Amino acid sequence: MSYTDQVIASLKKNIDGFKKGADVTEVGTVIEVGDGIARMIGLEACQAQEMLEFEDGTMGLALNLEEETVGAIILGESRQIKEGDTVKRTGKIMSIPVGEGMVGRVVNALGKSIDGKGEIKTKETYPIERVAPGVMTREPVNRPMQTGIKAIDALIPIGRGQRELIIGDRQTGKTAVAIDAILNQKGQDMICVYVAIGQKESKVARIVAKLQEAGAMEYTTVVSAGASEPAPMSYLAPYAGVTIAEYFADKGKDVLVIYDDLTKQAWAYREMSLLLRRPPGREAYPGDVFYLHSRLLERACNLNEKYGGGSITALPIIETQGGDISAYVPTNVISITDGQIFLQSDLFNRGIRPALNVGLSVSRVGGSAQIKPMKKVAGTLRLDLAQFRELEAFAQFSSDLDSETKKQIERGQRMTELLKQPQYAPLPVEEQVLSIFAAGKGYMDDVPVSDISEAEQKLITFAKKSKGKLLQKIAKGDWSEETVAEIKETCEQYSK
Ligand code: ATP
Ligand code: MG
Repeated sequence: MSYTDQVIASLKKNIDGFKKGADVTEVGTVIEVGDGIARMIGLEACQAQEMLEFEDGTMGLALNLEEETVGAIILGESRQIKEGDTVKRTGKIMSIPVGEGMVGRVVNALGKSIDGKGEIKTKETYPIERVAPGVMTREPVNRPMQTGIKAIDALIPIGRGQRELIIGDRQTGKTAVAIDAILNQKGQDMICVYVAIGQKESKVARIVAKLQEAGAMEYTTVVSAGASEPAPMSYLAPYAGVTIAEYFADKGKDVLVIYDDLTKQAWAYREMSLLLRRPPGREAYPGDVFYLHSRLLERACNLNEKYGGGSITALPIIETQGGDISAYVPTNVISITDGQIFLQSDLFNRGIRPALNVGLSVSRVGGSAQIKPMKKVAGTLRLDLAQFRELEAFAQFSSDLDSETKKQIERGQRMTELLKQPQYAPLPVEEQVLSIFAAGKGYMDDVPVSDISEAEQKLITFAKKSKGKLLQKIAKGDWSEETVAEIKETCEQYSK
């Protein structure tokens, strides 16, 4: 063989080997890595949201598909991955383990146990991105999701399958509302998923301890992407949370999911997008930051009987700066949800806790899910409180008020006092009905404002001891004339 032939043969062999072995559509090379992000060439057939496997076994998630390169987030430690490493397609969409075994556990954004109680035994996995249930599978919100917080259940009722935003500045009691809602699900046949996004690990540990102490971990899963973890984990955690919830909803169960908070998810997404060199838009967020939250919250649902009758209620949390609910991400999430619970710093500092701004808080669908007794006693409450606030402001400037106005102001003060509620003390709906009825109908007019909460306690204790049947009837939604008369009688007996 001549020298030329030899060269040609060797080249041919190389080309053949290249075709067979290293398929550029399946295997690529890392060209850039850092900050939890990798860019690769090759991988031409790669799909969006596909899992990738790096040389050292670390997994990645393909997000950016460009003409020449693929951008991916690295799921785990990125330190071992270097430029020039090979990376393989897996052909699989990212999935996490789901199942009954998740209940009572603390997991990371990949569904792996982080509570030191060993591996979680599950049989199934669900993809973390799923198309939300279609219109034909859903039915309108029609069953209540009691938070146990008087001000919310009476004024801004939430139904199973609803998406209700909790919004407010730092340290206004947002997490407190969400945790109380979880505590109140005891015995309500509800599974809860609490997703902690970018929070300090110590804070999450405290919340878990609190849930454990109250026996709420028996029906709760905590998903945590800690502040010290890379941004992609904060981005993924909410999707992991809703995926865990979907497993139960598919089985016909009711699930409550809390995302604490989506502001941090948006920050993480912005960071990732900038590193992936997506063009920044308003407030440097990528253009699809709306889609980030809409595709998550659309997965909340109230399925109809034909599809098992399960539901996912979502309580996303958003942190505002200086009470500005008109900033970019807050307005996005307000427009996606079915209402918002607006917590305000100045109310919080004045001791009105929960620091609910009644005027700016709404629930667009929950009213139809309220039980009848609550609907009746809370019917005019919002209006009465608004009138009271107006009169109160007005009364500051005048000394002689007519007795009617005075009475209205005094009752308003008592009602405002009654709607205050300490943390970790959710109240069953029938007890809420009783105390709001008593204050609203004037049975507490003689009680000094400072003693309202004590008077309420006594009334409830009295009713629980001697009127157990009545409370049960209210809880079942009975508001017959007979029941109302009995409640009146209870209040009268009590005030004596
Ligand atoms: P962050 O912005 O830091 O997440 P947050 O808005 O979630 O704060 P919380 O952590 O829930 O607020 O509450 C702030 C503080 O107020 C906590 O110390 C909490 O114990 C207290 N707090 C919250 N709600 C109440 C309440 N109803 N009564 C008394 N104290 C409360
Ligand atoms: Mg919080």
